[in-house]
Amino acid sequence: MEILNGKKLSQDIKAEIAEEVKLIKQKGGKIPHLAAVLIGNNPASESYVRSKVRSCDFVGFESTLIRKDDSITEEELLEIIHELNTSDDVDGFIVQLPLPKHIDEVKVTLAIDPKKDVDGFHPVNFGRMAQGLDCYLPATPFGIIQMIERYGIETSGKHAVVVGRSNIVGTPMSILLSRKAKSGNATVTLTHSRTKDLAAEVSRADIVIAAIGIPNFISADMVKEGAVIIDVGINRVEDESRKKGYRLVGDVDFDSVSEKASYITPVPGGVGPMTVTSLLMNTLKSSRKEIYG
Ligand code: NAD
Repeated sequence: MEILNGKKLSQDIKAEIAEEVKLIKQKGGKIPHLAAVLIGNNPASESYVRSKVRSCDFVGFESTLIRKDDSITEEELLEIIHELNTSDDVDGFIVQLPLPKHIDEVKVTLAIDPKKDVDGFHPVNFGRMAQGLDCYLPATPFGIIQMIERYGIETSGKHAVVVGRSNIVGTPMSILLSRKAKSGNATVTLTHSRTKDLAAEVSRADIVIAAIGIPNFISADMVKEGAVIIDVGINRVEDESRKKGYRLVGDVDFDSVSEKASYITPVPGGVGPMTVTSLLMNTLKSSRKEIYG
């Protein structure tokens, strides 16, 4: 069994990006600039955004953090998005989800200029991805594809089972794995909460992508010997032995499943760091003016 070490891989990719930024600086080019909008004080969102800003600093990007109280109105947020859309300086930006209940997430996602949508959530990017056209791939699936590619994991002709059909992870992941492209060409089953016999579906998988949000949901008895296991879940479970009073676990029961897997991602240190790296790669793509149209 080999650990898919997202922490190490993301550091390697960030070092490559940092080299590229150095060259841009030497040539007097424009430094890539990522902005993040954070509303309210959800602790998980704060920690994700902090890590995104830290990663920008590490690679030499400019970054801007726009923090607003959760009393912000939808109109005010849309105005901020408009300013970011039209800024010559900002190459890409994200609005950290979830948003307060009085703000319509769909409206916010649609307001972002697809050319600056480095999270890859806008339907224009989603549609272009589905048709195999140039686009920003959604950050988490892009990170998983990077991981699969760099570890040399074969996907062609394999049976991949994706558990969870969210717009940001499960559904795009199922599209990417089935595309006629590198790290694609798999036969994909997309499963969800209404799937009849989930254990039977998962047990047929050569590759399992778990994006459910339920701690340790995928157990060893569900998994085929030698399967590749990608655990997207980030769940907090109480742990009084930790200073914070909790620890992070994935959707996969790591201890038992790792004994059967050929490759497996840990949580933390697996998919999470790769998501941040994808954001940087998408921002670099934007600053190079490589995006479509
Ligand atoms: P979500 O919360 O929007 O949806 C969960 C999905 O799981 C749904 O499609 C649902 O049908 C499915 N599901 C729920 N219960 C199920 C069951 N009993 N059997 C089968 N399917 C079931 O999903 P999301 O936003 O993709 O998040 C999933 C997990 O991934 C969460 O833990 C989240 O924190 C984590 N996440 C991690 C990253 C990262 O960078 N590592 C990024 C995004 C999300």
